[in-house]
Amino acid sequence: MGTSHVDVAALQDGFAGRVLLPGDDGYDRHRSVWNAMVDRRPAVIARCAGRDDVAAAVRFGRDHGLDIGVLCGGHSILGLPVAEGGLMIDLSPMDAVRVDPAARRAWVQGGALLGALDRATQPYGLATTAGNVSHTGVGGLTLGGGMGWLARRYGLSCDNVASFEMVTADGAVVRADATENADLFWGLRGGGGNFGVVTEFEFRLHQVGTQALLVDLYFPPEDAAGVLSGWRDLIGDAPRSATFTAWVGRTEDWPHLPPALHDRPLAAVGYVWVGDPDEGRRLLPALRDLGSPVAEHVRDLSYLDLQTMDDTVEGHRHRRYWKGHYFGEFPDDAVRAFLARGAADTDADTDADAACLPAAGLQAYGGAIADVADDETAFSHRGTLVEFVAAARWSDPAEDADRMAAARRYAASLEPFAAGVYVNALTDEGEPGVRRAYPREKLARLTALKNRWDPDNVFRLNHNIPPTARD
Ligand code: FAD
Repeated sequence: MGTSHVDVAALQDGFAGRVLLPGDDGYDRHRSVWNAMVDRRPAVIARCAGRDDVAAAVRFGRDHGLDIGVLCGGHSILGLPVAEGGLMIDLSPMDAVRVDPAARRAWVQGGALLGALDRATQPYGLATTAGNVSHTGVGGLTLGGGMGWLARRYGLSCDNVASFEMVTADGAVVRADATENADLFWGLRGGGGNFGVVTEFEFRLHQVGTQALLVDLYFPPEDAAGVLSGWRDLIGDAPRSATFTAWVGRTEDWPHLPPALHDRPLAAVGYVWVGDPDEGRRLLPALRDLGSPVAEHVRDLSYLDLQTMDDTVEGHRHRRYWKGHYFGEFPDDAVRAFLARGAADTDADTDADAACLPAAGLQAYGGAIADVADDETAFSHRGTLVEFVAAARWSDPAEDADRMAAARRYAASLEPFAAGVYVNALTDEGEPGVRRAYPREKLARLTALKNRWDPDNVFRLNHNIPPTARD
């Protein structure tokens, strides 16, 4: 496959963006992604300025037999777009967002980050469903589904896409919406980057105002099982403006916790409310009735602050490994496994083992997510009660194996209760992971779509849906 000596003259001719080769100024910066474990060296980075650049890059990559990766925010945990020895189509210069407040629509280029979308819509009190960390890419998040604090009210990010503009594997530009290329429109809402390069998303916007409320009640993990079961039982009746959350892990020197609670294992239950905070506070008594927390964090904040509050803790340049599950039910045994964080045997654990245990979060689904029939979009498992993500973060490469083993052990302890996984939470599960993300009939339909739109599997650096092999 490709080497570091690809002749890029043909690509550079008429290319409006910048083509970077190993050794060029900026090459190392632009091959770096969110997860510091990713250290791959593309032969060519094509920093595209528009859809014509994207089309030229796709054709160039194919002509030269290069593996092609497509980069938006660079937040896929494995850094999928960074093609070792291949071509990385870097969409990040394509980050424009145009808003029509009267029509409640936003047109978002394929390389934009979530923060750009939120910042462009919030001056009008508008928003659409986006993820919880503003430096995540609109591209990867939306194509895989797109879970966020507005999803229970307005559906996933992908449910709010009115149309896509896409560059195909042949370098043609097509549009997909409910009537034009409707098969592709179905597949792009949850099927990931398997079918082409999306150069523009058209989103529906909603009048959500600018206010939000954050609630977290903290408990020692050993006292939290009953609380967490009670929290789970409240999810079914929760208003759609509320997204229930839970967390377990080791605290840091967070200013919202007293110093005595820094650097110790804790669990939290709570919710995020988008809208009038006083209305959101009405849910608090039900949560407080579950037990006596060691600390409470209840905070009014702007929607924009909500959307950026985890930007630092979820920042770049750390080593990372994630494991995810979807749960249709979350029985008490799952609650206990969640709180144990995959510790093999608590009594036998050494401090070093305990320090390796990942933190994990739960986020409630339901509401508008479940209003959409499961076969309406490629996104699957709409009946999910809660999503689980175990997120390991560390900095010393010597800890890589232990950290990843601990996260795998944790996920394995919960797997018996799980019913699938979110494609955007997959890491190195490979084909079995893709089969967990999409039920069999969905995968058959996605494969047929792949056969039609990308029969040569040009777009394979993703959670891949391979085409049917041709004779
Ligand atoms: P990239 O690594 O740039 O892209 C990932 C893949 O997406 C690429 O390999 C490509 O196949 C495809 N792709 C990206 N853009 C395009 C495009 N324009 N056209 C075609 N293909 C494209 N998910 C949620 O649903 N909700 C959350 O709140 C959430 N929070 C997160 C927070 C953090 C800190 C992280 C790291 C991830 C989070 N995720 C969340 C998961 C996230 O949705 C995925 O990691 C997603 O892949 C990130 O998209 P990206 O564009 O940043 O990634």
